[in-house]
Amino acid sequence: MTETSRRGLILINTGPGKGKTTAALGTAFRAAGNGMRVLILQFLKGSWHYGELDSAAALGEDFVIRQLGRGFVKVGGAETDPEDLKMVEDAWAEAAAAILSGDWDLIVLDEINYAIGYKMLDPEKVAEVLRQKPEMLHVILTGRNAHPILVELADTVTEMREVKHAYEKGILAQRGIEF
Ligand code: ATP
Ligand code: MG
Repeated sequence: MTETSRRGLILINTGPGKGKTTAALGTAFRAAGNGMRVLILQFLKGSWHYGELDSAAALGEDFVIRQLGRGFVKVGGAETDPEDLKMVEDAWAEAAAAILSGDWDLIVLDEINYAIGYKMLDPEKVAEVLRQKPEMLHVILTGRNAHPILVELADTVTEMREVKHAYEKGILAQRGIEF
């Protein structure tokens, strides 16, 4: 049977190509135009100043972006810095509270898939909170290598495929496109 009723969705933007965060911001922009209250929580990010932080400020108090990390997280052999782990735990506590609060119509958990992939956050804990989310709340999760538990739970999952990326030619991140 086709479900035609109005309801909040769980969406995931994953895969190796560029556009996961950008697509989430685009959806947030669309939601804001519909008078929806939007909260964007950025896991792991914090060292760069992104243009969207200033755009959000211009959109008023119903469009909030918060950076809950400090940028580069050491991975690949290196032990996770306890400071980074604490920041992810605090970020998740804030995200879980926001999801259950009923204060928002759309919540973006930007880069949360990386925090899960780095084993800094348990995907089952995330799934448990998402299962209890308010019915009309939409949640978007971004980052490569989305965990199968969350892919299973989600309604819409999009995998960005890299065809090519300027970075391969040695072109650095560009203002307005990457940050
Ligand atoms: P964006 O924020 O541009 O939508 P994203 O969310 O899909 O990118 P992330 O994994 O969060 O990708 O990485 C963010 C940064 O890495 C951006 O500066 C982006 O341009 C860059 N990036 C994304 N995909 C690639 C890629 N395939 N090769 C090199 N750099 C990439
Ligand atoms: Mg991203």
